[in-house]
Amino acid sequence: MNINGRFFNLKEIFDRLNHEYFGGTISIKITWGRNVRNGRRYIRFGSYTEKDNIIRIHPSLDRQDIPSYFIESIVYHEMLHKVVGVRIVNGRRRIHTPEFKNMERRFKYYKEAREWEKSNIRRLLKHYG
Ligand SMILES: [Zn+2]
Repeated sequence: MNINGRFFNLKEIFDRLNHEYFGGTISIKITWGRNVRNGRRYIRFGSYTEKDNIIRIHPSLDRQDIPSYFIESIVYHEMLHKVVGVRIVNGRRRIHTPEFKNMERRFKYYKEAREWEKSNIRRLLKHYG
């Protein structure tokens, strides 16, 4: 488990979000780490593995010039995967359901995070893709 990055402490971020949005009821391990299923063409910034009950956040985000609300939005998203779970719709696994997306928008800086991502994604991928 690698919690302390150079700039961000994931456990601290997790605990804060857990307290603020979930009444402290969520129990998940969190670590910096690459997801083994990463494709070559893009970075998955975060992942939640149900089997191991662990959130992995991509180490490329542990940088001074990444706003903390962006990391928080990634962690929050992965926490929702545990909260919402997988829905089976017409026999297919659905994870980013409308319910999920509604909950995702409750994050205080959702808009800021999406806008930041949009204008910085190329730069992020250039460095780490
Ligand atoms: Zn997701």
